[in-house]
Amino acid sequence: MIRKRIVLSVLALSIAVVFAACEHDKDASQVRAQSPPPAAEASVPKLSLPPDSGPPPAIDSARAMQYVKEMVAFGPRPIGSTNHKKVEDYITSHLKGDVFEEDTFTADTPEGKFPVRNIIAKFPGTRDGIIVIASHYDTNYPLRHTSYVGANDGASSSALLLEIANQLRGKKRDRYSIWLVWDDAEEAVKTWTDADSLYGIRHLAQKWQDDETIKKIKAFLLADMIGDADLNIDRDQNSTPWLEEVVYQAATRLGYQSHFFARDNQVIDDHIPFVQRGVPCADLIDFDYGYNNVFWHTPQDIVDRLSPKSLEIVGSTILETVGILDKMDTLPK
Ligand SMILES: [Zn+2]
Repeated sequence: MIRKRIVLSVLALSIAVVFAACEHDKDASQVRAQSPPPAAEASVPKLSLPPDSGPPPAIDSARAMQYVKEMVAFGPRPIGSTNHKKVEDYITSHLKGDVFEEDTFTADTPEGKFPVRNIIAKFPGTRDGIIVIASHYDTNYPLRHTSYVGANDGASSSALLLEIANQLRGKKRDRYSIWLVWDDAEEAVKTWTDADSLYGIRHLAQKWQDDETIKKIKAFLLADMIGDADLNIDRDQNSTPWLEEVVYQAATRLGYQSHFFARDNQVIDDHIPFVQRGVPCADLIDFDYGYNNVFWHTPQDIVDRLSPKSLEIVGSTILETVGILDKMDTLPK
């Protein structure tokens, strides 16, 4: 389970008040505020973006959706399960020939000790610095005895990373290195707390702090719940405003801006350990999965509710974001 709290921004709140005045029976939390482009916000430093050039990034959305189906076909994949192991092997089997490493450890949880395994694929570039793109692949532990397969929550983004790997493979990068991270044990095993959640990514962030890798990370892009056919990526207030602005500009260049940032949110997710260590982060998440997020963490989170187009929108926006970051002279702190 990911604990997230919906917080309307001051702007959204003022719109909500207007709406509430007109339709007093509507809950303010249901209001989709029309946000201005993030550049209008005072907290975003002036960005000097490279011109829009070159073809849009390619994503094979049918292939990405096929990966979602294959991951989901294993069944529930909570930590410690046989299915979980099968999905680990499924991911690494798609990385044959790539440089990848694993960060494994034993997590001590309220339900006992579990092996945890983060998988990191590295696509080296010649420019000094790393852009990380991450997704968790485990499913909710408390739902392990149900039919819950986390098609959107875990599988959609993990499948998209496999497709991104396909797009990066075999191409010489004269820009930043890209590391793809399939992180493990994001979900709480009992009740979401700081201690009972984000096991894998907390371990990896600490490891990269200890070996100083973290100093080289220019941006941390997280994808979570990005397959919803009704795609509305939230603007996360825990993310880094300038990086969210770059994401928005990338989406705009591709004509996908209407799927981004119509709603503000404040999200506790895998980016937090990196936010806490000063790494620029953007969490791309649509935390409105069905009316009032009704399909989230239920057996209703199935492939039928997803769309290949949504995978394509998020995947190409991520790659366009990388392309913009690659060409920026300097990145804000
Ligand atoms: Zn979840």
